[in-house]
Amino acid sequence: MTSKPTAGPVEATRSPAATLKTLAGGAVTFEGGLWARRQAVNRAAALPHGLRMLETAGNLDNLRIAAGRATGRFRGRVFMDSDVYKWLEAAAFEMARVPSAELSKSCDTLIELVAAAQGDDGYLNSYYTVAEPGRRWTDLTHGHELYCLGHMIQAALAFRRGTGDGRLLAIATRFVDYVHSVFGPGRRLTTDGHAEIEMALVELYRETGERRHLDLASFLLDQRGCNRIGPNRHDSLAAFQDRVPVREATGVEGHAVRALYLTTGAADVYLETGDAALLQTLTRQWDDMVEGKLYLTGGVGARHLAESFGHPYELPSDLAYSETCGAIASLMWSWRMLLATGHARYADLIERTLYNAILAGVSLSGERYFYVNPLASNGEVEHLHRGGPLRKPWHLVACCPPNVMRLLASLGHYVATRDGSGLQVHQYAAGRLQTSGIRLTIETAYPWEGRVRITVDETSATPWTLALRVPGWCTGAGVRVNGSPAADTVAPGYLRLDRAWARGDVVELDLPLEAHCVEAHPWVESTRGCVAVERGPLVYCLEQVDHPGGRLADLEIDTGAPLTSAWDADRLGGVAVVRAQGREVDTSSWQHRLYRPIGAAPAAARRPVQLTAVPYYAWANREPGAMRVWIPRAEDRA
Ligand SMILES: [Zn+2]
Repeated sequence: MTSKPTAGPVEATRSPAATLKTLAGGAVTFEGGLWARRQAVNRAAALPHGLRMLETAGNLDNLRIAAGRATGRFRGRVFMDSDVYKWLEAAAFEMARVPSAELSKSCDTLIELVAAAQGDDGYLNSYYTVAEPGRRWTDLTHGHELYCLGHMIQAALAFRRGTGDGRLLAIATRFVDYVHSVFGPGRRLTTDGHAEIEMALVELYRETGERRHLDLASFLLDQRGCNRIGPNRHDSLAAFQDRVPVREATGVEGHAVRALYLTTGAADVYLETGDAALLQTLTRQWDDMVEGKLYLTGGVGARHLAESFGHPYELPSDLAYSETCGAIASLMWSWRMLLATGHARYADLIERTLYNAILAGVSLSGERYFYVNPLASNGEVEHLHRGGPLRKPWHLVACCPPNVMRLLASLGHYVATRDGSGLQVHQYAAGRLQTSGIRLTIETAYPWEGRVRITVDETSATPWTLALRVPGWCTGAGVRVNGSPAADTVAPGYLRLDRAWARGDVVELDLPLEAHCVEAHPWVESTRGCVAVERGPLVYCLEQVDHPGGRLADLEIDTGAPLTSAWDADRLGGVAVVRAQGREVDTSSWQHRLYRPIGAAPAAARRPVQLTAVPYYAWANREPGAMRVWIPRAEDRA
């Protein structure tokens, strides 16, 4: 298909069922602003840190033992190899963005090690080679062999497309050839307990044009719902998305990351096959998620138990699971749904999830990570079934850190698309966009300010349409072209500017960005009587450190008073803080009582206080303490 080195994780540049096509990798670069800074930290701090952690945690030793270059026991969980591949994928995206001799050297070493660990028949998995030789493919439920291969394929494609280096792709292809001989019609009828291989195989098809990879992805999708993944000794069929066939699913259920990696892979199959039943199912599932199983932050997975989705409206704030990988999975899925349909609501959720649930997963330093992302914390350290206010350098199950790394390194991919009419800009960030004869400079202080200035630096002579997403949170958006208000068509969610563009044209988009309070459906138990503060795409929270001298739990917000916001360059690396009027409740009359009859004590005294809210993504970067997104309304307790 394509031999041009490009660097996008999803090269849906000619997918038949894609309404919108992806741009070639490297089309969007960030310059200045929040995302450029996060990418710089990702490159300078997170990637070197990640490599040290892979060494410390044993991932690299496992491969060395598998390659016969070291002795010892396998360390860690069965899917340790996948962390190596995700790190490699992040490094490949980074090298495609800006070459690096140091990264290149590290990658050479790792790829050479991976090659040495590969078996003669192409099989490659350090756990089954070292810890359980002779038992490959015996535990599809928990073994993660195809899952690890999926991550290897994705890393391999990132190298091939981003740097032109095909070594890892050659290794992955040998393994895939072997997998074709094991799974498929007339061979093994089952699939991996953890989805991931599906989207990777579709991507391999996009790169090579070999139909057998797409067919295998479809085959593996169709193994769901046949109770073939087993043995399901301890878990429900729903936990592995094995309860019903993929086209019969009515919602999202079970392990949140597995569920959304599967829907992502299914969406990829749809983009290549146009299987209408798949899109219908995926739309139904997406609706089920956003209508009852989604945190305000975009996080998913309400339950620590089995890391799973809960029932509709089951969204505890303090006991939320909301794994960082779940949020990343949601973004990957919504991106493919956006490509499939062109509907702005998918770009809206990508934005919400990216700025909140995902970005909270990594510290401002780039070297500390949350696995669990609660929306409220009493400040106590994390323990069983409860998240806490301390990010960790790495995790025993370290899926999240390198997942964040690869996403940040490839973030430009998710900014814009093209179709027959022109270009669609879905996300706003300062930088440059360059694609097939069009070059744009984008200047903005988004998400802190809502003004976006786009200058046309180069354009084709034929007229084309620039479509600009108006975020779902925004009312009163306006656009000017060369200073004059533009009165073009407004497609749902997009302002469309149809023009014969000329070099030097300037488009100014204004997205009014006022802090405001939002409430949750009354059936969400944990948020009853509470509101949350949002400003633009950012969800805000209160942190104990900004409210010294009292307890965060005693604070209420007066929603009748206006919210004000101000830029604070010195706080949390520079953020807009939101200030609100509130009350601090005197709870001293409760003494040691947990319950009491109403009226048994005089109404609690309330003293006016000013509340200072900071972006949720930036919480837990100062001294550990309490945090809450949902704040009780003062008027409800008067
Ligand atoms: Zn994870």
